[in-house]
Amino acid sequence: MQYKNKNFHVENISTEKLARKFNTPFYCYSYSRIKNNILNFKNHFNKINPLVCFSVKSNSNLAILKEIRNLNCGADVVSKGEMMKASKAGIIAKKIVFSGVGKTYSELKYAINKNILLINVESLSELLAIEKIAKQKKKKVDIGIRLNPNTDAKTLKQISTGRVGDKFGVGEKEFIKLVKYAKISKFLRLKCLSVHIGSQILSHKPYEKMLKVIDRLIKKTHHEFEFVDLGGGIGISYDKNSKKFDFKTYNYLISKFLKKKNCKIIFEPGRSIIGNAGVLISKIIYIKKNKNKNFVILNAGMNDLMRPALYGTKHQIVPSKKNKKILNKTLEFVGPICESTDKFLTIKKFQSIKEGDIIIICDVGAYGMSLSSNYNLRPLPAEILIKNSKIKIIKNTQKLDDLI
Ligand SMILES: *Cc1c(COP(=O)(O)O)cnc(C)c1O
Repeated sequence: MQYKNKNFHVENISTEKLARKFNTPFYCYSYSRIKNNILNFKNHFNKINPLVCFSVKSNSNLAILKEIRNLNCGADVVSKGEMMKASKAGIIAKKIVFSGVGKTYSELKYAINKNILLINVESLSELLAIEKIAKQKKKKVDIGIRLNPNTDAKTLKQISTGRVGDKFGVGEKEFIKLVKYAKISKFLRLKCLSVHIGSQILSHKPYEKMLKVIDRLIKKTHHEFEFVDLGGGIGISYDKNSKKFDFKTYNYLISKFLKKKNCKIIFEPGRSIIGNAGVLISKIIYIKKNKNKNFVILNAGMNDLMRPALYGTKHQIVPSKKNKKILNKTLEFVGPICESTDKFLTIKKFQSIKEGDIIIICDVGAYGMSLSSNYNLRPLPAEILIKNSKIKIIKNTQKLDDLI
């Protein structure tokens, strides 16, 4: 994704061309970015040889899941719907792990029937529910237990999941209790210790702390876990100044942790695989002058991309076509939705723009389309994948008639 002759390109296709071909707003992904992200991720950890289970909630487009499957990844799912979609994409059951604090009885039944790799249990009640279903089916079910390691991921509070006050996983004492119970159960096979401390984590330090907690706890339980599932959470650079995650150190810390242990590592990355592989292409409807700033009203809104409204996050905004005229006016890029939080970014310096221009919102591959909604009764946008110079529509714009 870069400018060529002053035009923004996804691989070798200009966004101007795409915007002439398709109704804006729409998501556009680069296959080569996805592929490189996966290969790089695996490369960083090649000595560990982990199982990489893509976090389906970050992006659940079927065509994308198929590509990810073809790059030998499994899936981390958090609902029956995601499990079904991962299967439909061709991901085998033995590469699917199931997380979530509120798996329902029917979801658990479905997962147990499918014989997925692991159900990562997050409470005693869930453990008992699984045991009950397993008993009815006269089966032994493979489970993991999700530990809440009480580790602050030092990320946005809304996407932090591993502190003692967060709803996810179980604390150390409860963990030991659940291990003891699962070990003697005739219907449970305890295979995994799992954690996931949050998302958009840019420092290896929280992971270092987390590994120490896990290490201590494994010693305490005297249980030989076949798998240790370290979750996802590795962050990406949303602006040019932010630091890059130090994979090398994380890899070193895990290798150290694995010494004298005989277990396989599972990762559940979402954002780090798909985040920077997608852009949202939109058009300026109106420019409205205001006292200290101008509102640039896009035809993409918080229903298409919710992250800024939900967490106050910032995504880079760039013009599809570059020019040299600088505007000395503060611009606030907003959507058309009837909510004051429906704004994307305020920029002090931007090039001169006019109504009808195409505007690119960057790094929206993860938690973009998957968080979209029909709010204000707006149809969901289309999704397009660029692969080997070919433009593939991988999801059509929703039809208003179907919605109504
Ligand atoms: C959301 C989630 C992930 C993926 O997190 P990223 O920050 O996108 O890598 C992994 N595991 C679990 C259990 C999750 O809930």
